[in-house]
Amino acid sequence: MKQTEILVIGGGPAGLCAAAAAAQLGASVLILERDGKPGGQLVKQTHKFFGSKKQYAGDRGIHIGDFLLDQVEQDPKVEVWKDTTALGIYEDGVVTAEADGKHIKIKPEKIIVATGAAEKFLVFPNNDLPGIYGAGAVQTLMNVAGVVPGKRVLMVGAGNIGLIVSYQLMQAGVEVAGVIEAAPQIGGYLVHASKIRRAGVPILTSHTIKEAYGENTLEGAIIWQLDEKWQPIPGTEQDIKADVMCLAVGLSPLTELCWQAECEMKYVPELSGHVPVRNDFLETTRPGLYVAGDVSGVEEASSAMVEGRLAGISAAFSLGYGKDVAPKLQAEAQEELNELRSGPAGEKTMKGILKLTGKEGVAC
Ligand SMILES: Cc1cc2nc3c(=O)[nH]c(=O)nc-3n(C[C@H](O)[C@H](O)[C@H](O)COP(=O)(O)OP(=O)(O)OC[C@H]3O[C@@H](n4cnc5c(N)ncnc54)[C@H](O)[C@@H]3O)c2cc1C
Repeated sequence: MKQTEILVIGGGPAGLCAAAAAAQLGASVLILERDGKPGGQLVKQTHKFFGSKKQYAGDRGIHIGDFLLDQVEQDPKVEVWKDTTALGIYEDGVVTAEADGKHIKIKPEKIIVATGAAEKFLVFPNNDLPGIYGAGAVQTLMNVAGVVPGKRVLMVGAGNIGLIVSYQLMQAGVEVAGVIEAAPQIGGYLVHASKIRRAGVPILTSHTIKEAYGENTLEGAIIWQLDEKWQPIPGTEQDIKADVMCLAVGLSPLTELCWQAECEMKYVPELSGHVPVRNDFLETTRPGLYVAGDVSGVEEASSAMVEGRLAGISAAFSLGYGKDVAPKLQAEAQEELNELRSGPAGEKTMKGILKLTGKEGVAC
């Protein structure tokens, strides 16, 4: 059985930052990443990030991912196991994983779950036609595999992901027939919306999919308008021809391991679904199990990195590392999280945290 002081599950920005912070305080860390290239969502983000300079705003996501990975790979206290999927966390503290068809057992002293989030899907007739993708899948196809998904795309969802992926599709030479959004307003940053509108792509708010159609693969979709109660208005149907439909309708925290570990869970819509209840140091109700990043509530890479750092410091501190510096570092990370969430974009998260913990933000 493999022993380690801290096991980090998930090598996205949250997991990589958790590992780096814990190792810097002296703890030995093992990261499990199910993908061949750690970095999480960052491996396909070719655009320049927004936010705070402290969290690499202005750099492209792919470069941030490479930088975070280099940092942990150069640290002798950190081991990174790629292509390794964590399967379960058991009552006796053993974690099981699969790699290359082999079943592995690990006995960590502390666990940080940083598994990220999964794409949501929509229910409508023929939603299983080939050509209908999640936006993240399209990004992976284009930006990782270098394959365009088709010729003409209908984008569903005008949040940042829908807007950014629409722009990237256009950069790759794919025609974007339009972006539809069920809400009465665009959810993403206006700078992204303006870029695609300037290129002539219509963004129709208060619109949704009625049905998709096609013989063997997607050929088009019927969309219709929604009233102020989000009910479809008959007679407003439009036929949009497209061989690709891209769903960018949100993410859900990937919390299966937390459920299985019997962490107390709570449904908080502002955090995008069921999330583990945790304290100000991101420790869940299962002692010694911490969470960080989108698994604790869908946000952004910037907050995922800071949450990772906070979880890493807290886990290492609980093992007796960094006694002189850890409380100060924890307070700094908590303050950074509150700052990141203080703008209009963070309002929803703050509301969610209030529902989850009964307190405004995290203590600092
Ligand atoms: C199109 C798009 C644009 C974005 N733009 C921005 C932006 O401009 N600015 C910004 O700040 N944020 C942006 N984000 C959001 C940001 O990418 C995410 O919030 C961030 O990546 C979350 O980090 P994470 O580490 O929590 O999760 P992830 O990045 O999802 O990483 C989780 C990792 O865990 C691994 N994993 C999951 N389950 C297991 C398991 N059982 N065993 C082993 N490994 C596992 C996954 O393979 C993955 O590598 C964007 C996201 C998208 C999709």
